[in-house]
Amino acid sequence: LEPAVEPPAGAAPSAALEAVRSAAALPAALRLAIARGHLSLAFQPIRRCGDGSLVSVEALLRWEDPDRGPVPPDTFIPVAEETGLIIQIGAWVLRRACETAVRAGGEWRIAVNISPVQFQQPDLAGMVANILRETGLPPGRLALELTEQIPLLRFPRAREAVRRLQAMGVQVALDDFGSGFSNIACLREFRFDLVKLDRSILALPPAQRGTVLTALLAVSQSFGLKVVVEGVETTEDWGMLQALGADYAQGYLLGRPAADLALAVPDAFPGQP
Ligand code: C2E
Ligand code: CA
Ligand code: CA
Ligand code: CA
Repeated sequence: LEPAVEPPAGAAPSAALEAVRSAAALPAALRLAIARGHLSLAFQPIRRCGDGSLVSVEALLRWEDPDRGPVPPDTFIPVAEETGLIIQIGAWVLRRACETAVRAGGEWRIAVNISPVQFQQPDLAGMVANILRETGLPPGRLALELTEQIPLLRFPRAREAVRRLQAMGVQVALDDFGSGFSNIACLREFRFDLVKLDRSILALPPAQRGTVLTALLAVSQSFGLKVVVEGVETTEDWGMLQALGADYAQGYLLGRPAADLALAVPDAFPGQP
């Protein structure tokens, strides 16, 4: 056994202790970030496997803190969920994303992530309808990405909200399928329009990747769902998806997320060469 190492009295706090302190300060820092306008969006394209044409653009939240630098979404989204701040932040993201899509024009959808916590607000579908009306985005140009959470599906309020959104013409996608809580019952119970296969699937060892991908594509497509494969980083990945019959793809090879839509997705602007 290694002897336990105690820092000498008066020594600088350990990195672990610093991390705990800085995590404890996150809710307050996030509130400040909202007030000071330190949140922004990055945009990443989703493309058709056949010809690489643009299908949709995902809006991804960014937090640039003057002291901490960029704080990753996987660090601060859970904080926003625990504090309920995600309801306010989520509405801001949706409005910003819709405004950006209207300004660019074109037929592609803007894809916005919705946290399960946002279904706790009394009228999520009404909130979305208001933002669509105020920004002038046609409902057919909006896609919402829901991360699968089994308990969520049991709530009549969530089911009702999803049903109303789809009736308006908003596309609803199941995000991160093949990871975490994902399972097939969820595909059966909820009538999603689209499913996104988590990028952990392309990260499997080559011997398993093709088999797992083939199976998940078959399951999803048997439910009549279009499939986006996430995490396409190499031309080899891209070739395999085309061969296996995936519908759409997203990943660094096809476009990295960037704050400037014109840089991230040059073909998002119709009428420009
Ligand atoms: P997600 O919805 O699964 O988004 C895709 C993530 O994969 C993004 O990470 C994106 O930058 C990353 N990615 C895309 N292509 C590649 C690739 O080829 N390789 C690799 N290694 N990564 C790739 P990001 O932006 O860090 O976001 C992480 C997660 O944070 C998102 O996962 C989503 O769950 C959450 N998130 C981001 N923005 C929002 C938001 O506005 N609202 C909510 N509720 N959650 C958000
Ligand atoms: Ca997503
Ligand atoms: Ca995802
Ligand atoms: Ca994810």
